[in-house]
Amino acid sequence: MCYVILLMIGPPGTGKSMLASRLPGILPEMSEEEALQTAAVLSISNRGFDIDDWRKRPFRTPHHTASGVALVGGGSNPRPGEISLAHNGVMFLDELPEFDRKVLEVLREPLESGRITISRAARQEEFPARFQLITAMNPCPCGYHGESSGNRECHCSADQVLRYRNRISGPLLDRIDMHIEVPMPPPEVLHGGGGESSENSARVRKRVERARQRQLQRNGHPNSQLQGGDLERECALTDQSRSLIQRAMEQLGLSARAYHRILRLARTIADMADSDTLQPQHISEAIGYRRLDRLR
Ligand SMILES: [Zn+2]
Repeated sequence: MCYVILLMIGPPGTGKSMLASRLPGILPEMSEEEALQTAAVLSISNRGFDIDDWRKRPFRTPHHTASGVALVGGGSNPRPGEISLAHNGVMFLDELPEFDRKVLEVLREPLESGRITISRAARQEEFPARFQLITAMNPCPCGYHGESSGNRECHCSADQVLRYRNRISGPLLDRIDMHIEVPMPPPEVLHGGGGESSENSARVRKRVERARQRQLQRNGHPNSQLQGGDLERECALTDQSRSLIQRAMEQLGLSARAYHRILRLARTIADMADSDTLQPQHISEAIGYRRLDRLR
């Protein structure tokens, strides 16, 4: 089971890449076991392990021209690919619709299982591949959807916009937990910094660690690994929550997989809010992150 998968949608220059690059800094500190796993994978890669990388969560940014082998691994003497180099860290795919659909399809197995099996005539290798997947895309082919004046005026037709967004396959979109719009920030934010309301990575990391600790104490593992009966028990729904989620399933045409992903995400939202019970507002927030499903 993979961690949360996020898609940021916004025009160029809004800081999508910068936001993604900050994610490793707000994840919990690496455990000894995680650090050893990550070092082991790096040590058998073409890149090798550098002692400066010890206990640093990886941040990998393969380009949209990357081949399937580069992404998932392979070769006659199988080597780990980007998804395994990102193990216990973050992989960021910018300009998601530009990636070859066939290349993205190979992500499906590791996104479910957290590992990848590479079969070659002579041998079979399995590499770990459990990572946070962060992706980004422009809202339309030109990037400035909705702008109606100035030199950034968007002339993309509704049909072009739809075709562009549909380049992301349904099965992949189904596995993306959060679709988030990243609009152009107002000029005062760009020039004046975040001000007093901004929170630095170290403080956010503390909140994330606390939420994760809650999960480990309750489930014995993170919410992302909740399955079957454990998932039903830890995400017990009130009548109101049940009807909320049922309505969303019908309106958005969500799959059973998406339903389970919404439950896990809602449970994490509740943990971030220090709530033992899953409330309707946690469910509706989780459903609200699936806005691209609405457009299909
Ligand atoms: Zn456009």
